[in-house]
Amino acid sequence: MRIDAPRVSGDPGPMSQRPCARCGVALDPDKAYLTGDGPVCDACHTQGELDVAFASAAKYYPSTSLSFALVSFLFNPFYVFTIAAIATAVTGVSKLTRLEDYARALGPKRGSYIAGCVGAIVLAVLNVVLRIGLASLR
Ligand SMILES: [Zn+2]
Repeated sequence: MRIDAPRVSGDPGPMSQRPCARCGVALDPDKAYLTGDGPVCDACHTQGELDVAFASAAKYYPSTSLSFALVSFLFNPFYVFTIAAIATAVTGVSKLTRLEDYARALGPKRGSYIAGCVGAIVLAVLNVVLRIGLASLR
């Protein structure tokens, strides 16, 4: 047992005796990363960084497609914002439903992100229906 290892009150023991907090593998104390969950191995640390990146990237699809759909109600030359909203939302639904990286990184939030993309498609189609309806009244 190393006596020079830093100890924190409540710490169950030196890191060499503790498993990875996420996958349970035996930890090399020189290669462990301290996280909010406790010490984790290199692979789990890297996966955690990837999850943060994928969770951040996933926000792009609902937020951007909804923004395009809302802007299309204000002005929409050549239906460019309708096309952008639907293209972004369809890409988002496709990636968010198929890629395991997004499923793991988002957890239960993935459903609301997909719902946001579907909402953008509904808004974009509603915009076109309203424009055609208004045009037919003239
Ligand atoms: Zn691990």
